[in-house]
Amino acid sequence: MRILIAEDDGFSRRFLAKSMEQWDYEIIFAGTGDEAWEILSQEDAPKLVILNWMLPGMDGLDLCRKIRKHQKGTSTYIIMFTASRSTADLVGAINAGADDFVTKSFDVRELEVRVRAGKRIVELEEALWTLATRDSLTKLWNRAAILDVLDREISRASRNEANIGLVMADIDHFKQINDICGHRGGDAALVQVAKRLADNLRKYDTIGRYGGEEFLIVVPEPGETTTETVAERLRLSIAETPFQIEGQVVPITMSFGAAVACCQQQLNADLLIRTADEALYRAKAHGRNRVESITRLLESSVASAT
Ligand code: GH3
Ligand code: MG
Ligand code: MG
Repeated sequence: MRILIAEDDGFSRRFLAKSMEQWDYEIIFAGTGDEAWEILSQEDAPKLVILNWMLPGMDGLDLCRKIRKHQKGTSTYIIMFTASRSTADLVGAINAGADDFVTKSFDVRELEVRVRAGKRIVELEEALWTLATRDSLTKLWNRAAILDVLDREISRASRNEANIGLVMADIDHFKQINDICGHRGGDAALVQVAKRLADNLRKYDTIGRYGGEEFLIVVPEPGETTTETVAERLRLSIAETPFQIEGQVVPITMSFGAAVACCQQQLNADLLIRTADEALYRAKAHGRNRVESITRLLESSVASAT
């Protein structure tokens, strides 16, 4: 597990590094509050942080408040590290958002057990987060999580006056796959389809399982035809190579509905979903294994706003 230590004092750093490495933690050091904030703002930031109260620039207490204010996803476990033994400081640190408080004149065994307790909380929270946001079968984002992504990307698109695309994808005649392969085989097919879709996305697109054999793909800032192109690439990735399911070769196809919402309007998740669904319905009606696209959302949102 990686731990960020925000500490500018060389002696404390060496002491902490030696202890932590011997307990098998990977340490990242920051010498100032701002440097620590920069590390914590990155994706995949360490989830356990030891903060010295006194830091050049933004001090430990301010950093603590800032972490709590801007936190998204799972929370950061913060141990405040200080020379003070006063109860007032302990209360101040916990009020600022710290989870624990260690004085510098500690016995090293105390630090070890406090860090271990923190690690337990971080791991528990990550497990709960996974349960709450991932689809248990396919491991993709679940319905609630992909809708959150859509809301976030819509807000971002509105701020940046950018377009946003949404693709709704549905496996064709999935009932027949269940009939041929059994429900367990159907589940295996869903897992493989989900993996193939995820493997064929651009890195800024996000996919989730919307329900049953339906998936949503959020496509931020698509170019002229990008949403449709993304959908077409996904369609081919599924249709071109049959699947191996429980010893049987099973050809699978999917239908795709793509919708693009335009900037400058009050963008609306419901409208975007309804439009992608309408496009998907057309793809089914026009014979399946195809992409249908609707980009007239600007007019629709003007109409719905008036
Ligand atoms: P269409 O081409 O019109 O989409 O036909 P379809 O058969 O795929 O669509 P329909 O909505 O009639 O049936 C979807 C089927 O998907 C019915 C349901 O039993 C199955 N299904 C939904 N979720 C799961 C799942 O988690 N596992 C399995 N094995 N089957 C599922
Ligand atoms: Mg279907
Ligand atoms: Mg369906």
